[in-house]
Amino acid sequence: MRYLITGGAGFIGSTLAETLLKKNQEVCIIDDLSTGRFENILPLKLYAPHFSYHIESIFSPVLAELIDYADVVFHLAAAVGVRLVVSHPVETLETNIRGTERVLALARKKKKKILIASTSEVYGKSDQIPYREDSDLVFGPTTNSRWSYACSKVIDEFLALAYYRKEQLPIVIFRLFNTVGPKQVGNYGMVIPTFIQQALNGGPIIVYGDGSQTRCFAYIDDVVWALRHLANEEKAVGEIFNIGSTEETSIVQLAQKIRQKIDPNLSIVFKPYEDAYEKGFEDMKRRIPSIDKISHCIGYNPVHSLDQILEKTIAHFKTL
Ligand code: UDP
Repeated sequence: MRYLITGGAGFIGSTLAETLLKKNQEVCIIDDLSTGRFENILPLKLYAPHFSYHIESIFSPVLAELIDYADVVFHLAAAVGVRLVVSHPVETLETNIRGTERVLALARKKKKKILIASTSEVYGKSDQIPYREDSDLVFGPTTNSRWSYACSKVIDEFLALAYYRKEQLPIVIFRLFNTVGPKQVGNYGMVIPTFIQQALNGGPIIVYGDGSQTRCFAYIDDVVWALRHLANEEKAVGEIFNIGSTEETSIVQLAQKIRQKIDPNLSIVFKPYEDAYEKGFEDMKRRIPSIDKISHCIGYNPVHSLDQILEKTIAHFKTL
């Protein structure tokens, strides 16, 4: 099979690419390196001629050819990370809405299968825990730029579903919940690499808010497994799936675990959200996926615990 991965130089895209290449598949990636990193592409070059790459944006004319070449497209190119989204709201909306619109329009011509990345952010501040794919989505006001990310991805989902219903385009939508692992970098606010880096630098570990907010962290290999199996499962077409872990932890517990594993003497300090992001910033108090739907569809069963994830990620950071 030939796969095209938009955003393939990112943390998730490059890990997916490597896994597919190891399984003797052909992979092409396109990435403008806005948040993706060339060093994620380097190890993939060993797989040439099964691997090729284009350092271009998804608005480049070459995208049409690349989609024609592919049997399956993973559309991961997007503005990601809450810090980036809050600081660059125009680019977030442009890339996430116009970019996906373009990918879908090009895929339509030859009815290419396309898997569209969405996010747990779309559940917003809903308190219907755990979040099911058919749960209501609850956002705050448009003056708070955090919600622009969720709204842009909701538009992507509507567009993809519309193409499926009206044009029989084979689409699959997946909502990622806090995917983590060794190659993830903390530049865009992601909490685990940020805490580990702070701890390895001698602290303090800086927790936003009071730290009682909770998240479930999914290990990259479990997520990539889900993506590969969704791509091959006919029953997944036209559907939306959560991909995540159900092991809930508060952010202060996370900080304590990382401190314990790196240096128990480090201090943990608390920073108000307004100082960390922007005035009026709203955080989700709890975020837990229901994974019933994806478990029934492809037998998804994430196997990595938070402790294992932290050990692997800390070990990787120590090698840098
Ligand atoms: N967070 C934190 N310190 C940081 C970065 C993030 O306390 O340096 C908190 C953030 O406010 C949120 C949680 O950790 O409550 C997860 O943040 P992340 O940006 O990784 O993902 P989110 O779930 O917000 O998309």
